[in-house]
Amino acid sequence: MKISYDVIHIRVKRPFAISRDVTVEKDTVIVRIEHDGVVGFGEAIPYPYYGDHIEAVKGFLDIAIPIIQSEFEDPFDTKRIEARLHEIAGRNFPAKAGIMDALYDLIGKILDIPVWKLIGVPSEPIKTSYTIGLGEIDEMIDDMQNHRDFEVFKIKLGRPNDYDIIKAMRDATNKPIRVDANAAWDAKEALKKIEFMAELGGFEFVEQPLHPNDFQGLKFLKERSPLPIVVDESVLTSTDIPRLLGYTDGINIKLAKSGGIPEAIRMIEIARAHNLKVMLGCMVETGLGVAAAAQIAPLVDYVDLDGNILLAEDPFVGLPVKDGYIHLTDKPGLGVEPKQKPQEVQNEQL
Ligand SMILES: [Mg+2]
Repeated sequence: MKISYDVIHIRVKRPFAISRDVTVEKDTVIVRIEHDGVVGFGEAIPYPYYGDHIEAVKGFLDIAIPIIQSEFEDPFDTKRIEARLHEIAGRNFPAKAGIMDALYDLIGKILDIPVWKLIGVPSEPIKTSYTIGLGEIDEMIDDMQNHRDFEVFKIKLGRPNDYDIIKAMRDATNKPIRVDANAAWDAKEALKKIEFMAELGGFEFVEQPLHPNDFQGLKFLKERSPLPIVVDESVLTSTDIPRLLGYTDGINIKLAKSGGIPEAIRMIEIARAHNLKVMLGCMVETGLGVAAAAQIAPLVDYVDLDGNILLAEDPFVGLPVKDGYIHLTDKPGLGVEPKQKPQEVQNEQL
């Protein structure tokens, strides 16, 4: 196996604001694994909130790639490769996802079958929410109306005018709305806002209302909230699930947090065993990272895979989104390919 990576630059169509930051542009890392002339790709999207800034992602890959290349010859040896990556260093989940998802893409291409089929997932069209970032209320309504083909919306919250946003967005559509405060609220504030949403009706659930470590607040909300609570920033991998039992109604899984497809599947199974609802999300990332998540999307309750739709230009093609649904295809591997041939991309290369 020959493993390398490229850094590519991505930009969003319009500044994407959440309670703690705004994304305009950023770099992402594309891992490439070649074996017997077949090439698999996986995205390692940096996410500084968890300490995974771009230098950390590249630093882990620079250490891990020579080790994996020297110790493993067979790309099908995924269990041992995944375990070895965890031995090399803890966390570093985006970089691990880049390698593991590239392996799955490669294996699918070698076997000439899509990854969803390889892992026994049905190929149903996947209904995804479209996420509306924070902004002026008029702009948020415009954004919603420009994406009226989606059947469910996710609204970012966590501003002093949350009540106005909630009311305006509820008035602007009859479709279900889910909200994400990205850890901006305290428990009492969260309860008041959630009760307001419940009174208006049509809100599905509330994502990460509180600081990831506010377990006392989460317990308070769990006992009183009229809407289900789904945690995101509080849960990265399966080891985070046991301490959340009794504190949340569901978890939001992302490949950049789990370290790739196999751990995400493990998390779905563990969550199911404890009657937790399962959401599958993504970062603002390319169609490659979204395609990897889409392979397991039919296994979850709520899908929020719109990261590449937010981009001005997606450098990967092959994952059709139509009328608010992602359509898995019969193309082998993750089903997407770079728009440009890798040698044409003007980037750093290992
Ligand atoms: Mg979230």
